[in-house]
Amino acid sequence: MSRTARRMVASGLVTGTSGNVTVRTPEGDVPITPSGLDYEVLEPEDVVRVDPEGRPLEGSLKPSSETPMHVGIYRSRLRVGAVVHTHARCATTLACLGWEIPPVHYMLTALSGDGWVPLAPYAAYGSEELAGHVSKALGESRQVCLLQNHGTIAVGKSTEEALHRTVILEEMAEIYYRVRIAGEPILLTPEQVAEVAAKIVDYGQSKPSDAS
Ligand SMILES: [Zn+2]
Repeated sequence: MSRTARRMVASGLVTGTSGNVTVRTPEGDVPITPSGLDYEVLEPEDVVRVDPEGRPLEGSLKPSSETPMHVGIYRSRLRVGAVVHTHARCATTLACLGWEIPPVHYMLTALSGDGWVPLAPYAAYGSEELAGHVSKALGESRQVCLLQNHGTIAVGKSTEEALHRTVILEEMAEIYYRVRIAGEPILLTPEQVAEVAAKIVDYGQSKPSDAS
């Protein structure tokens, strides 16, 4: 997990201590990156373990302030195995504009069955209110969402999958932002989105509409 956290830094998705990554263990508890510790110096023994309610089980460091958001997702989405949270620049720019991402590019079907990336309303970081907004925005089947005036969330079966979805989300956010500056986007129709969703299954990837 500390390796994934460092990969987020290397990919430019996070800077300094913004953002965090968690997994759910087979026992149901959640190792989480510590609060305020730079990923560049993060070692496996620095990771804090919390129970499904977000209470620390072991580890001397204080868990990330975003713990309620992560454990809230695991409670509402039983098949999710990993959560990645970032303040990635383009996606966060859209979130600060209060924009969702509509089905403007076919790759969005890999993130959400209907091609839309929803926006969770603003609430203070680390709050139970924000955790509730995020779980509601993700619903039962979406793999990513934007957090208004804050950043991004992506879920997956593994940290690799959640990180990969964050990379796609950031790419899609940049494209949508550029399109909006240049003119009026052409949106895919529901039929076109459904056609691509079926093709992505043929690629052997996980079905976008599958809850994970
Ligand atoms: Zn954050």
